[in-house]
Amino acid sequence: MIIALKATISHTEALALAKQHESFLITDDGKQVLITSSSVKELPSSLKEDAENFWVMTNDIQLASRKYRPQTREVAIGNILIGGNTKNTIVVGGPCSVESEEQIRSASIVLKELSLSTLRGGCYKPRTSPYSFQGLGIEGLRLLRKMKEEFGHTIITEARDATQIHEIIEYTDVIQVGAKAMYDQGILRACSKTNKTVLIKRGFGTTLQEFVQAAEFVMSGGNLNVVLCERGIRTFETGTRFTLDLCGVAWLKEHCNLPIILDPSHAMGYAYGVPSLTKACVAMGVDGLLIETHPNPSVALSDASQQLNFEVFKTLINELKPLANCVGYTIV
Ligand code: PEP
Ligand code: MN
Repeated sequence: MIIALKATISHTEALALAKQHESFLITDDGKQVLITSSSVKELPSSLKEDAENFWVMTNDIQLASRKYRPQTREVAIGNILIGGNTKNTIVVGGPCSVESEEQIRSASIVLKELSLSTLRGGCYKPRTSPYSFQGLGIEGLRLLRKMKEEFGHTIITEARDATQIHEIIEYTDVIQVGAKAMYDQGILRACSKTNKTVLIKRGFGTTLQEFVQAAEFVMSGGNLNVVLCERGIRTFETGTRFTLDLCGVAWLKEHCNLPIILDPSHAMGYAYGVPSLTKACVAMGVDGLLIETHPNPSVALSDASQQLNFEVFKTLINELKPLANCVGYTIV
């Protein structure tokens, strides 16, 4: 249950109520709200005087549910807003991993040429093998910051474990929680204590319910700046790397109030399929796209097969603009 407290309740009183009712206390849209387990179906009589409004929830998708808050939440990616009434489709570009200054600068230039401003590059890579490239770590973060200073780009990078959050928020604007880290409650709780936007990727073996509940960990801790990213789930099909769950995206749009970003690169796994898949994503009307691009994909240190070279990336972005307009969105 979500209970919005009356404006007359002080913060100290609200904290005492939260403790008494074993609930979370956060501020949402300027109002103090308590969140209990969704198994609570009746407003406790001791809260009747203090509650301005309350919502009985069906399950533990609560703060992210349209049942509680019907409008899509507006979330900032640097100085661009997505969700709300914006109808922006933000393109998150850049390579899978930051590999060198030359490489990340070349991607930054391409984004700038296309009037895009959101650069993503991994510095702590959660690889499937301990023997493959693990990322440049802090050196990569420094390069990303340099690109922010030179080009004014908004920076997104991924945390592989909770100990890196502190460092990542110092250097970047948006924290990515990867598919493999989606269940990591250490990371989710650490993200909940920052005010940075958190982009959570769906674990490739998780249900939509589990996915959104990961977002609830961040939101119930007080950080409502969460964006969901569908990046493909594992199915019986092996011809493509994963299967982009567009039905799941329709479900999320119907039931959840968080902005949704789609990642055709990781879903497809092969560059040849990424442009047409991206167009299908745009046609759904989505809040953003995550597309990997690299100056020379064949020698990329991670995800080589799926990254678009700059020429293909540029053509794609230019083709997406009128498509997005057809469904009332703007590529930014
Ligand atoms: C990535 O974004 O480069 C990545 C590792 O993706 P995922 O967590 O979706 O596998
Ligand atoms: Mn990648």
